[in-house]
Amino acid sequence: MNTTANAYGLPDPEELEAWAQPYFSEYGAEEAGRPPNAVSGVSPSAAPSVGYSPVVQPYTGADAGATAGRAVGAGFDVNRIRADFPILNERLSNGKKLIWLDNGATTQKPRQVIDRLSYFYEHENSNVHRGAHELAARSTDAYEAARNTVAKFLGAPSKDNIVFVRGTTEGINLVAHSYVRPLLGPGDEIVLTILEHHANIVPWQLIAQETGAVIKVAPVDSDGQIILPEYTRLFGPRTRFASVTHVSNALGTITPVHEMVQIAHGFGVRILVDGAQSVAHTPINVTALDADFFVFSGHKIFAPTGIGAVYGKTDALNEAAPYQGGGNMIRDVTFERTVYNPPPSKFEAGTGSIADAVGLGAALDYVSQIGLPNISAYEHELLDYATCELCGIKGLRFIGTAKEKASVLSFVLEGATTEQVGKHLADRGIAVRAGHHCAQPILRHYGLESTVRPTLAFYNTAGEVDELVRAVREIAPKF
Ligand code: PLP
Repeated sequence: MNTTANAYGLPDPEELEAWAQPYFSEYGAEEAGRPPNAVSGVSPSAAPSVGYSPVVQPYTGADAGATAGRAVGAGFDVNRIRADFPILNERLSNGKKLIWLDNGATTQKPRQVIDRLSYFYEHENSNVHRGAHELAARSTDAYEAARNTVAKFLGAPSKDNIVFVRGTTEGINLVAHSYVRPLLGPGDEIVLTILEHHANIVPWQLIAQETGAVIKVAPVDSDGQIILPEYTRLFGPRTRFASVTHVSNALGTITPVHEMVQIAHGFGVRILVDGAQSVAHTPINVTALDADFFVFSGHKIFAPTGIGAVYGKTDALNEAAPYQGGGNMIRDVTFERTVYNPPPSKFEAGTGSIADAVGLGAALDYVSQIGLPNISAYEHELLDYATCELCGIKGLRFIGTAKEKASVLSFVLEGATTEQVGKHLADRGIAVRAGHHCAQPILRHYGLESTVRPTLAFYNTAGEVDELVRAVREIAPKF
């Protein structure tokens, strides 16, 4: 059974482009004629396929009730993209309009994802892979189509390389327990970096404690960048595995994952890349990257919570032991033994988050229509703008000043605790994170227990950055 978008009345990308051509020969055509899953502000007349169409329209700042200091994102129609996200119009209980700058914690969901979830529950809901009836076929088709979408989005060779999990945390635990733990004995080594989120530290600690293995930690320079020669020095004959974040959630550093994969492989060591903070901000191709495992959470990329994926190379997934036991992952069970299904089923015991997986597929389709290169370019400009504006504030110190950064603006302010800054911003409708960001080792490297952390997404505007800067100025020390 091979039902995808058509099964719920939506055109596939080719049909979408052909269908839309006469209606959208130029930007600004009638919204009314837009297909249900099309991205507002994206002209399907762009080549190739349904990529983002540049719009020469300098930013005015009007949407956030503020005027940007300079044009940001000319060619990226952020206001029309914002129209896809109902929550961005939310008024808070104090009457302030929501400014969502907590995207590193989780992202908001476009109408296309919300509608897809509703459609699933209204027309397709069933358990997958098990029923002889039509709804089982519909839900299985939708679930497996989503797996295919994830594979394509990541540049994986096949949908069989994609295991659905609850998110990055579960994905790392799966790899730690199923693949790495059986390799470990006393004195064996796992290489991490000091930038890691707790989700990429604690699972390794747990299996190290069980086996007597040792964790080695790569340092960073004062800007928060990996020092590659130091990283290389950590590898040796006892190294069994390496794991690294692609983007630091606390500092925003983009790590040199291509080089790090090559270094690990040069020592015959497999490596996992934690894509929780990169997947929504930069194009990923796991085949070109050559990582052995890549994990991410759907909720960081405009999809529901409770769903994420592990990409694994075929041979690594075949070598790995089952993660949990139960239904769905078996081919045959007797009381004496069990024969497992091949990957990915082998790692998907029990009933998963079926609708959320389908929602993840819709989110990735949505992002693909806009195009990650377009998103990345826009966010880069916005990050530069925000950095430039914030660094003019006396008493503000950025934590994490790497040359290559994505989305994150971590800072501390003289004379105010991070909690006070977070509360002050919240009072003005601005949602940011203030705390340790589940990355205590890297904050302590800077002598800190917490920072204020605004994090950007492609629906944020220069006007919102202006509001942030104005609010921070209000509590900055007056010298
Ligand atoms: N890794 C990084 C770099 C993160 O930023 C996060 C969450 O913020 C995680 C892992 C854990 O993700 P989740 O809580 O979705 O499992």
